[in-house]
Order: sequence, then structure tokens, then C-alpha cells
Amino acid sequence: EQRGTAMKEQQLTVALRIRPINEAELEEGASIIAHRVGDQMVVLMDPSEDPDDILRANRSREKTFIFDMVFDQKATQEEVYVSTTKSLVEGVISGYNATVFAYGPTGAGKTYTMLGMDCEPGIYIRTLNDLFRALEATSDNMDYIVSMSYLEIYNEVIRDLLNPSSGFLDLREDSRGSIQIAGITEVSTTNAQEIMQLLTKGNKERTQEPTAANETSSRSHAVLQVTVKRMSRVKDITEEVRVGRLFMVDLAGSERAAQTQNRGKRMKEGAHINRSLLALGNCINALSEKGGSRGQYVNFRDSKLTRLLKDSLGGNSRTVMIAHISPASMYFEESRTTLIYAYRAKNI
Ligand code: ADP
Ligand code: MG
Repeated sequence: EQRGTAMKEQQLTVALRIRPINEAELEEGASIIAHRVGDQMVVLMDPSEDPDDILRANRSREKTFIFDMVFDQKATQEEVYVSTTKSLVEGVISGYNATVFAYGPTGAGKTYTMLGMDCEPGIYIRTLNDLFRALEATSDNMDYIVSMSYLEIYNEVIRDLLNPSSGFLDLREDSRGSIQIAGITEVSTTNAQEIMQLLTKGNKERTQEPTAANETSSRSHAVLQVTVKRMSRVKDITEEVRVGRLFMVDLAGSERAAQTQNRGKRMKEGAHINRSLLALGNCINALSEKGGSRGQYVNFRDSKLTRLLKDSLGGNSRTVMIAHISPASMYFEESRTTLIYAYRAKNI
């Protein structure tokens, strides 16, 4: 039935979103150096090159990258959601796992894409709305229980963003070997307004304030976990309970990943690189290499984030990575390393 179609979908999708240039960047004299070309290509110009050099003798640092999708400043929140995440909802309802990541340096638009604003809601709320709508339409013999949690991983420690006073939480494996977060708040509501308020409030509890420019601000991952449990309501049919889980992750700023060296096919840790980001890159690389099948050398145990996502990366799970960059010239180096990381995630 639905299982078949869900499995035919692409398992790893890598998209790029270029946010609009902003006032501050323009005031600093920035120019736009990242250009979308068609639906799948971005050209990144090296601002240190002379644009008036007609012969363009040195084009070595003008780089072109191809992704599954490229969005620029014209793309709406709706468009980004529909082309990256909407199609995951059906699979989650039928018991499949999926993960959506926002990747990129601090200030590049990750939180805007995932959380968004009241007037421009992001992927979190659009996904939940579609999920509830789909369940309402499914008036067959199924019962569903939907619950959500919102947590932060900071310095390899898990905190409940819906109940920050609860301290540090542990990961445990249940009897079926699936990963659970011990003691996490699980909320079940179908009221979109209420959810947006919960998430916005939760986001304020992040060790990182989204706009703060301090040193620690960019090192936390925010994870929205949505669990859909499906049970048959027909009396004598003892169909197994199916559980689908969707993780939507606003990753820590990738600026430190710039120091990552790629040796062989494994990334090795540099001075201050976020361990989870590094482990995640390694897992996704390994998974894409194996065509999605779970290889033994995919080491999920390397970080809290990858341990948490163990059941939602690879296998029959679908993974969407949305990389983010600013188009402004002063971020050339950060943009370049972001594009390389995201490109490598898919093309080893
Ligand atoms: P990050 O979470 O990656 O650090 P933010 O999402 O906080 O970055 O974005 C930085 C700023 O840019 C915020 O003020 C945000 O509202 C704005 N912004 C980001 N992306 C867009 C976009 N696509 N359209 C309009 N404003 C955006
Ligand atoms: Mg943010």
C-alpha cells in the first residue's frame, strides 16, 4: 500500500536557500555574490576578484554548485516548505521516520526557515498543520496519537525547551531498541496557534538567542520531535501499532565547520568544531555513499544528535538538508564552506 510509494521517494534531498541581503550588509557596502541560476544551480563569486576585468583571467574562485533545489530571496516560506518537507508527512503517518535539517552559518536564515515568524510561519508549523489535516481526513479505522517535544542539544547535553527547569536529559533505548529521551515533555495539541506559542517560547529558552552575536550563541541544535502513533480501532484485528517519527532540526551555526578537514572520507575534528555537526556530516556522507543502506561504519554513537537520530537517518527514513547562506560579499568564505559541506553530503 502506501509503504511502496513512500520508499520510492528520494532518500536524501539537499536544498539550498539564499536569504535576502539586509540593510546592515548593504550599509557595510556589501554586494550580492550568490546567484541562483535555474532551479538547481548557484554561482558564488569571489568578491576579491575585479568585476571589471573583462577577460576574467582568474575565474578560479568563481564556483558553481548543483543541489536538488535552490531557493533565493524570492522564495516564500510556503514554497520552501512544499518542495522540501510537505511530502514527508504522508510517510510519517504510515509509520516511517524522517528528518529535516536547517544547516548553515549563524545569521544565514536557519531559524527563519524552521520557526519563522507569526506572519511568515516556517516549516515546523506548516508541517504540523498538514499532519493534523491529514489525520482528520483519515476517518477510517485508525486511531492516531500525535505528540511533540522541543529540545536543545548544547555541548553534548540535552535540555527540554518546553520545561527548561528539568535539567539535563538522558537518551535511553527502549525494549525494542528505539531511542527515547528520558523525562522529556510530550505535548499533544492540534491547535496551531498554541503550538507556535510553545515553540516561540521554547526558542527563547535556547542557550542561543537567535539574533545574539555572542560566542556561545551559535552552538546549540534545536530539535522538534513529532511522533505519530497509529493503532487499528477494529476490535478483532490485532494490527501492530505503527510509530512514525519526524525530526525537524535547526542546527548549530556551521561557521566552525570551516576548520573541518576532510581526510579520506571522514571529517576529523579541528579546534572548536561542534561535535554533533561533525558526526552528522560523517553519518550523512556514509549513508549517501551506501545509497541509503545503513553501513556498519556509520557511527551514530559519535554525538548526542546522531544517537538521537539513529532511527531516522538511513534505512527507510527520508532526510532533507536545507543549507543556508547570506548572499553578501563579506560572507564569501562562510558561504563557500557551507556550499562545500552541503554538496559533499550528497556527492562523495
Ligand atoms: P540563523 O538562525 O541561521 O542564525 P536567522 O533565521 O535568525 O539566522 O536569520 C537572520 C536574520 O535574517 C533574521 O532577522 C531573519 O528574520 C532574517 N531572514 C533570514 N532568512 C530570511 C528570509 N528568507 N527572508 C527574510 N528574512 C530572512
Ligand atoms: Mg537561529
